[in-house]
Amino acid sequence: MPVEQQSRPRSSCPDSVPGQLVRQNRWVHETRAIPPIIPDTLCVTHPLPTTHSKSHSIPPYLHHRLFTITMAAETAASRTYTLNNGVKVPAVGFGTFANEGAKGETYNAVAKALEVGYRHLDCAWFYGNEDEVGDALRDFLAKTPSVKREDIFICTKVWNHLHAPEDVEWSIKDSLANLRVDYIDLFLVHWPVAAEKNADHTVKIGPDGKYVINKALTENPEPTWRAMERLVDARLARSIGVSNWTIAGLEQLLQFARIKPVVNQIEIHPFFPNTELVDFCFKHDIMPTAYSPLGSQNQVPTTGETVRGDPTLNAVAKRSGHNLGQVLLAWGLQRGYIVLPKSSTPSRIEGNFQIPTLSQEDFEAVQAVARTHRTRFVNMKDTFGYDVWPEDS
Ligand code: NAP
Repeated sequence: MPVEQQSRPRSSCPDSVPGQLVRQNRWVHETRAIPPIIPDTLCVTHPLPTTHSKSHSIPPYLHHRLFTITMAAETAASRTYTLNNGVKVPAVGFGTFANEGAKGETYNAVAKALEVGYRHLDCAWFYGNEDEVGDALRDFLAKTPSVKREDIFICTKVWNHLHAPEDVEWSIKDSLANLRVDYIDLFLVHWPVAAEKNADHTVKIGPDGKYVINKALTENPEPTWRAMERLVDARLARSIGVSNWTIAGLEQLLQFARIKPVVNQIEIHPFFPNTELVDFCFKHDIMPTAYSPLGSQNQVPTTGETVRGDPTLNAVAKRSGHNLGQVLLAWGLQRGYIVLPKSSTPSRIEGNFQIPTLSQEDFEAVQAVARTHRTRFVNMKDTFGYDVWPEDS
């Protein structure tokens, strides 16, 4: 079962002138010039592909030889991308989804992750565990004075039944209270599906046991996006973005967005490389973010194959001297996007942060697996009663 289907809620730009981007706001404590955007082809001295230039015609992962050179001197901890609004984001984020009922699991995992050095947390209102993330963050910051709130990049998301403009604001305020922070670094619309709510902010379920879809807001997300933009204006969110958005959905959004989405968080792993959407995002200066980068725990329904059990991927891991998780995360970084591994196991939390650089041969071997697979593991159409990807069925 796709990982997010196992959960339910529990709780309650700046103008850009190349070379002259100047910001003065609460996120940047001093006024400073942000370095000019460096085209990918001139990236030799730059750690990783930063903002992808609009004239970008070659998919970023084809530049991986270059990235290989530049990544070698870095650690996962220092690797960042620059989003289309100038905000920097750590390339490796820690996934915080946890099965409902596993009380304390998220606290322990996030505490360990922060200790190991992760500085990017991927949360969601829907996961029902933002309070545990908040507790772990508060305790870590209290005992680690060298790290400040602003050193941690926090992403969270608004769930489907909270897409009405006033509910978008309610949602971020609820997340802020649970996370015990006063701003979110990145606030996402979790799915391009709007649903109805009950008076107590729970999801309204119809007689068929599925969500009651708000057709108007699903077909025209402009009111939702305007509410998201107001959160940036109100400085409750530094950046806004989307998740599970399709190319058609992004095209629609880009037509009316005053503030462009900075990321599209989507499923990406070698069994679902999502290449067309990844390329579209790069072309439009929207950073793809890979969820389920380790292939989650799922198997291909028709064959029973799993990412974990794939012989080619395991052979790459064996010959490179790294474990499979590290290989999968390295492949994602070398394709140029953010990766969000999740683990509740301390040794894996550590290992997933020690990401190597794949050789050309190993990168190509993973690419070959990706070219021959197309299985989406996360699709909540049976829960929602609405299919974002009817073409997959
Ligand atoms: P994932 O990170 O691909 O896989 C997590 C699973 O892999 C867990 O069962 C974990 O087990 C195991 N694991 C972790 N490291 C491992 C390693 N080195 N070797 C072997 N197994 C390992 O999948 P995910 O949880 O689906 O996705 C990650 C994050 O993406 C989520 O936590 C969430 O933040 C986000 N996400 C977002 C959406 C969305 O709609 N936007 C959807 C899905 C996920 P243990 O925990 O037992 O170690």
